[in-house]
Amino acid sequence: MSHIETDLIHSGKAFNETRSVIPPIYQTATYFADTNPEEYLKAATEARHPYFYHRHGNPVSSQTAELVARLEGTEAALLTATGMAAVSTAVLSIVKAGDHVVAQRSHYSAASVLLKEVLPQFGVEVSYFDQSDNSSLDAEIRPNTALIYVETPSNPNLAITDLAYVGALAREKGITTVCDNTFASPINQRPGDFGIDIIVHSATKYLGGHSDLTAGVICGTSAAVNKAWKKMLSLGGALAPFDAWLLLRGLRTLSLRVKQINANALALAQWFETHPLIKRVLYCGLPSHPQHELARRQMNGFTGMLCVEIAGKDEQEQFTRAQTVLNSLQLFANAASLGGVESLVVHPASMWGLHHSPEQKLKAGINDGMLRISVGIEHEEDLIGDFEQALGRI
Ligand SMILES: *Cc1c(COP(=O)(O)O)cnc(C)c1O
Repeated sequence: MSHIETDLIHSGKAFNETRSVIPPIYQTATYFADTNPEEYLKAATEARHPYFYHRHGNPVSSQTAELVARLEGTEAALLTATGMAAVSTAVLSIVKAGDHVVAQRSHYSAASVLLKEVLPQFGVEVSYFDQSDNSSLDAEIRPNTALIYVETPSNPNLAITDLAYVGALAREKGITTVCDNTFASPINQRPGDFGIDIIVHSATKYLGGHSDLTAGVICGTSAAVNKAWKKMLSLGGALAPFDAWLLLRGLRTLSLRVKQINANALALAQWFETHPLIKRVLYCGLPSHPQHELARRQMNGFTGMLCVEIAGKDEQEQFTRAQTVLNSLQLFANAASLGGVESLVVHPASMWGLHHSPEQKLKAGINDGMLRISVGIEHEEDLIGDFEQALGRI
């Protein structure tokens, strides 16, 4: 098998049956049916068939999915319209009424709502474990536990989950595992290598990489992905042909982008550690991260995601100062999302303030002076310079 850098350019080519080097976009809802009834039935029922009806499959989706599966080292992959379509479709393809799910305390916000509100609506119980304490996971396992759902590094507090531990425990107990690998990207971390069954991504982030599409992926064995595909037919979250094409185009440079982003983020994180107005830097690539050793065991690179806490005499002052910095930055745009070529920054305390109580914020590790940063591929000196001038406004 060739290297990832080569596969990013060549994997899935067999699905392009035309003479065009770049696969065409099949901007069509449906395809001429085979007049032979047996062939028609086959096309209608075969998982991810690329030439039947768009919700079932699309030639560019097949090509893109094969590439993502190769990246994650899984048998198959399925593309979805958004990251949340991937999360909800994957989870709903595994659990049924009467089942129990164990999840982390901190997850991407919409995934938290799925766990806290949507699953209980359908008679699925959810309980939570502490990512930094493996024994707390053991304590939550019940006879009816069907799924362990994890995300690492987690959003927004960059906590690390011990994938080898989760994978081994789940295999021993016959429990299915799902890992949201969005923050790491498959260049930095492959959960399947640690025994995780299903890997989901918001491809809106690093995989697409240009903040110009929303998409999701579900990776796993062919059997697991086909089960998710069947659920998607009912839930309806298929990815549009143009977005599948854009995602393929974005993926070509994934390795180059992620390597540059890893290097930029480390340089920025190290610089923050020397700045007197920064009280704390949270970056899993720094020895000061409480789970740095674990991150080193399971990651090949440490991503472009980091958090800093602006210093201040109390949380009120920290909040005001974080707002000052946010509004003074010129290269880092204040915008939701992450993982693109451009650097972004958000102030979780003001974004999450409406949905979370002070106790919830504390529990999720969000402080009023915290800024969450997604580092892009700009030059590191310009990124550092931007924060230097913004912190100078305090
Ligand atoms: C953004 C994100 C999602 C949701 O993805 P969408 O494409 O916005 O639906 C899920 N998980 C994580 C970790 C994310 O950052």
